[in-house]
Amino acid sequence: MTTINMDKLITDYPLVQDLIDLKQVTWFNPKVTTTEAGLPYVGLTLKDVEDAQARLARFAPYLMKAFPETQETQGIIESEVVAIDAMKAALEKRYNTPITGKILLKKDSHLPISGSIKARGGIYEVLTHAEKLALKAGLLSTTDNYDILFSDKFRQFFSQYSIAVGSTGNLGMSIGIMSAKLGFSVSVHMSSDARQWKKDKLRAHGVNVVEYEQDYSIAVEEGRKEAEKNANCFFIDDENSTTLFLGYAVAGLRLKTQFAEQGIVVDNNHPLFVYLPCGVGGGPGGVAFGLKLAFGDAVHCLFAEPTHSPCMLLGVHTGLHDAICVQEIGIDNVTAADGLAVGRASGFVGRAMERLIDGYYTIDDTEMYNLLGLLNQTESLKLEPSALAGMPGAIHVTQHSDYLQSKSLTAEKMANATHLVWATGGGMVPQAEMQQYLAQAKLD
Ligand SMILES: *Cc1c(COP(=O)(O)O)cnc(C)c1O
Repeated sequence: MTTINMDKLITDYPLVQDLIDLKQVTWFNPKVTTTEAGLPYVGLTLKDVEDAQARLARFAPYLMKAFPETQETQGIIESEVVAIDAMKAALEKRYNTPITGKILLKKDSHLPISGSIKARGGIYEVLTHAEKLALKAGLLSTTDNYDILFSDKFRQFFSQYSIAVGSTGNLGMSIGIMSAKLGFSVSVHMSSDARQWKKDKLRAHGVNVVEYEQDYSIAVEEGRKEAEKNANCFFIDDENSTTLFLGYAVAGLRLKTQFAEQGIVVDNNHPLFVYLPCGVGGGPGGVAFGLKLAFGDAVHCLFAEPTHSPCMLLGVHTGLHDAICVQEIGIDNVTAADGLAVGRASGFVGRAMERLIDGYYTIDDTEMYNLLGLLNQTESLKLEPSALAGMPGAIHVTQHSDYLQSKSLTAEKMANATHLVWATGGGMVPQAEMQQYLAQAKLD
């Protein structure tokens, strides 16, 4: 590990001092480019995302059989977009800031199978791997009805192979449940932040759960090491996987269809702002990539991180990306937002997406809890703490007139704005656990 010259880092990037002081900060990246100029740096294309979408469609008949809860959406794992008008009013009051335009909530928290945004990338990567193995063995053709995979024959076939992953919880849930259902032998390496109920649920599905007392980076490293010992073991690399990234990106294309169905217009005069909680970066990065492909310059993406785990903001702001972690500047990476408890961001996502993400902000744990309570009070919607990180996004955008000016986002345009808060998890949190979350909220 290279050592960081802290004095120089803070002189060059004064914002780092605010991060160290655990202040809630907002940073709009002055180096953001047009979508057209930024997309080539991603290294992936619309065709790649369309291929992912087609693969998910091939698996839909299988998913309908294996997970009957997906029958309602014909085996497509997708979430609703809902208006949260009462929450909007509560936010305006809480922050004493009027929000122009409407606020919507993207309920990935209630995605079937695993109840978080990881039901996109995680499940997609497992399906991709399974398809590859079955095609190679000559057991499957892409023109088959994939419901044949729901059989003892295929479960037997997949049982020769294993899958491993390191996770703070939700990725492990998605990959563990999906892999076990297909018949794979699967190990999930869980960091200290992972909630007990997630470990219990995975074990009930026959998943091998390995627990660590350290954080996410260690869980990933150990998982990777174990996988290397076994030639038949596939390691799912949350920090670098383009497959995971593409699974998330499909959301962008689908949102365009969903908006069209609901009559929601997005264009240069009707800007769309999307607020995405960020951990290692694959989820928000992949979704933002899909959104940029779907809406171009009309969509503006912001990433939200806990004050105790601002790894992506630190990496992009200093240009050091995965060459720096929050612990190196004295931050502990301990947060109630377990889905976001990541100290070192994905270098792949940071570099691929930095030109396309307008801004980043941090949020206190206490504020995430308070917003969790407020959303429950105003909308009867229950999320896990991580999923609230996007909630104050519209406030930050509204309060930064210099940013709005730099993007020619006039008052006329802002009156037509759609603010979309990406709710990334919480739909499967057990009731007793949810009561504990709600008890942390201080509402006045
Ligand atoms: C994983 C996760 C995120 C962020 O996704 P990354 O790919 O780690 O950036 C956000 N919210 C929840 C609830 C998550 O589980």
